[in-house]
Amino acid sequence: MIPYGRQDISENDIKSVIEILKSDFLTQGPTVPAFEKAVSDYCNTNYAIATNSATSALHIACLALGVGEGDIIWTSPITFVASANCAIYCGAKVDFVDIDPLSYNMSINALEEKLIKAYKSGHLPKVVIPVHLAGQSCDMEKIQELAKKYDFRIIEDASHAIGGKYKNTQIGSCKYSDITVFSFHPVKIITTGEGGMCLTNDSELALSLNRLRSHGIVRHPSEMQNTSDGPWYYEQIELGYNYRMTDIQAALGLSQINRLEKFISSRHKIASLYNELLNEEWIELPWQHPDTISSYHLYIIRIKKKNKLISHRQLFETLRNSGILVNLHYIPVYKHPYYSKLGYNKADFPAAEAYYNEAISIPIYPTLTISEQKEVINRIIKPFGYQNLF
Ligand SMILES: *Cc1c(COP(=O)(O)O)cnc(C)c1O
Repeated sequence: MIPYGRQDISENDIKSVIEILKSDFLTQGPTVPAFEKAVSDYCNTNYAIATNSATSALHIACLALGVGEGDIIWTSPITFVASANCAIYCGAKVDFVDIDPLSYNMSINALEEKLIKAYKSGHLPKVVIPVHLAGQSCDMEKIQELAKKYDFRIIEDASHAIGGKYKNTQIGSCKYSDITVFSFHPVKIITTGEGGMCLTNDSELALSLNRLRSHGIVRHPSEMQNTSDGPWYYEQIELGYNYRMTDIQAALGLSQINRLEKFISSRHKIASLYNELLNEEWIELPWQHPDTISSYHLYIIRIKKKNKLISHRQLFETLRNSGILVNLHYIPVYKHPYYSKLGYNKADFPAAEAYYNEAISIPIYPTLTISEQKEVINRIIKPFGYQNLF
């Protein structure tokens, strides 16, 4: 069985977790701040706020930017449902911007057209959430220009993308956005089991994210509304949640981040072998924007609809039946019953529809062996009279 993605846990990772289990703090100790510092140093951002998932991070990111009832947020339809759910949690509405047919990220042209229409009808989004699909950055400079022109805020859903770069800056730098969110789920680039993080350069947003992660409680007199009753005193000044990461998880993350560069380079090696050996007329390989360096969380091929060899579904089933657990990232969010009830029109998203009919995520992860990768390649192209490649 070869999955599409999986974690790489070292002896050192295990040792780091065990040390925490023997220490004074399983949660709210020194390891969460240490992990936050490691990630913010790596991304060159001022603040990092660790959470128990990227879903929680997206939720408090929306809240910190003031998203609430009556607001609209926009995201890509080709993403995990969490990128849209975060707005609904806040009582806001969600709409989608079609994808770019080359990068599969939010299309800048579609975004601009939709903004022009929304400006006329008075329904501009409060926040836009671009998603760096597969680990390749969206064209953030252009999105930031539009944000200034149309007065919306930006949350980057970089769940796939720690370790990737855009115009020579690390994804997560927040140079082009208000907040960036990472996920540390085991299929992602580095893992904490479950876990996520918000990054920002804005000190007010950082304070707000910190509060929202922990019940809306403040302990520093400068943040309090009343004067302290004594040394036991703290205040809940708004409604927050328990979205904290544990020190056990942070220890795993802190150990994993030491190998982040290695993980990215093994993913790039795997991607280049696929690029070379799956370079067939009927397969569309993942196009890369020259300004980006992907983290290659996913390697997505498209089986061209017009090819005479095999259908998208046939190839998907053949691979699954032979133990290669390919996947499709993602079912367009507006197709899920929960969302379709809200009344989206698939004719508004022709590029997402075409993508959904053709895309397959094939295995890519640091521990994928060369012989496993060759098996994947042979299974894809050998039935069509190609010589066994290896
Ligand atoms: C994984 C993922 C999330 C959610 O991450 P969790 O840490 O599992 O909550 C959100 N958005 C995207 C694009 C993802 O891939």
